[in-house]
Amino acid sequence: MTRAEALAKSLAALIRGDVETAASIASSFHGGAGSLYENESIAIVRFILEHDYTPDPAIKPEVLARLRIVAAAMEFWDEVDIKDIADVSGSWKYKHSPELVTQLLYKSGLEQHRLQRLRDMGSQEIEIRANHTKDLCPACKSDLGLSFPIHAAPFLPHPRCSCEYSCSCRYIAHQSPPLSDP
Ligand SMILES: [Zn+2]
Repeated sequence: MTRAEALAKSLAALIRGDVETAASIASSFHGGAGSLYENESIAIVRFILEHDYTPDPAIKPEVLARLRIVAAAMEFWDEVDIKDIADVSGSWKYKHSPELVTQLLYKSGLEQHRLQRLRDMGSQEIEIRANHTKDLCPACKSDLGLSFPIHAAPFLPHPRCSCEYSCSCRYIAHQSPPLSDP
């Protein structure tokens, strides 16, 4: 099977909602079927497909649903041509490019998954970090380095993020300062 054929089958499985099949086609193609990474990827993809965040409420649900599939496929295939499954030609009229919308949908699933992992590990508090601190927009700057109870974690990507590229904020477990000797 060529990459294009395998990708097409994997996308078709994602459109049907069959995440396991989509994953196993991708990992057989990449030679890592059944690995731990596959399970981790499946969990991330479920968050991408199931969260109800939208980077722009003006985007029609059917358009968003297609870009969500692209975002999910990116987890399995790294690079996916949006034009393969979504019509984003001439008529695109939204504030973010289709590429940025896809990035943000991906990012949202990734962070929701990260938050779930921290919850599973028993973290009570999370902290917001950014992959870079240069040129952060006001929305990202305002939460940077702050810690929150995990149940009150601000949503990531920041809904009002206006960073030039995609919001790069992420959750990490909050490290309590070491207890000093009495
Ligand atoms: Zn930002």
